[in-house]
Amino acid sequence: MNSSITKRNALLSKKVIKGLQSRNMTGYYAENKEEALEKALSLIPEGSVIGMGGCMSAHEIGLVNALKAGNYDFIDRDALEDKRAAMLKTYDADFFISSANAITEDGVIFNIDGNSNRVSAIAQGPKKVIFIVGMNKVCRDTDSALDRARNIAAPINSQRVGVRTPCTETGSCANCKSEECICCQFLITRFSRHKDRIHVILVNEDLGF
Ligand code: SF4
Repeated sequence: MNSSITKRNALLSKKVIKGLQSRNMTGYYAENKEEALEKALSLIPEGSVIGMGGCMSAHEIGLVNALKAGNYDFIDRDALEDKRAAMLKTYDADFFISSANAITEDGVIFNIDGNSNRVSAIAQGPKKVIFIVGMNKVCRDTDSALDRARNIAAPINSQRVGVRTPCTETGSCANCKSEECICCQFLITRFSRHKDRIHVILVNEDLGF
């Protein structure tokens, strides 16, 4: 990472962390992927039951491999045949791992979902939620965060999963109501009622999209 960007990210992360604190959430800053992995694992005791939505950032810092290899009950949704059972077990998990589509400089977290297993588990269910968020997801305010989630993250996600939507064809959101639309539920996490439930690890890297 370029040293000017690193300096900017380190300074900006302090503002985001302060914003998270004001919203009853806890923020951390990791200089790189290795530090982010170490921090995430330090928050998760061995033996924990852990669920996850689609989270490229967790893959990119090596967290998914570490959880699969370690002494954890990791709910590997992709490998399980019974998706509903996996979803229900996830709602009762000790931890839920997620990324964010965007986060504002003052700590508001944005996520858009198609199946909605991810946004529902963030909102309610798992005892704790750990977000892995690259500093590339930090946006100035709620308007720019929603814009990022809708016009950058969602079209790329559509292309990644290969749904038949206008954005898969054009790269641009058409505000569709297609059968396979992935923009069904929008979750804005602006405050956590439960202290110590939501933890956000900001990473000085471009993670996910
Ligand atoms: S075109 Fe449809 S699926 Fe694609 S980003 Fe827009 S609303 Fe979401």
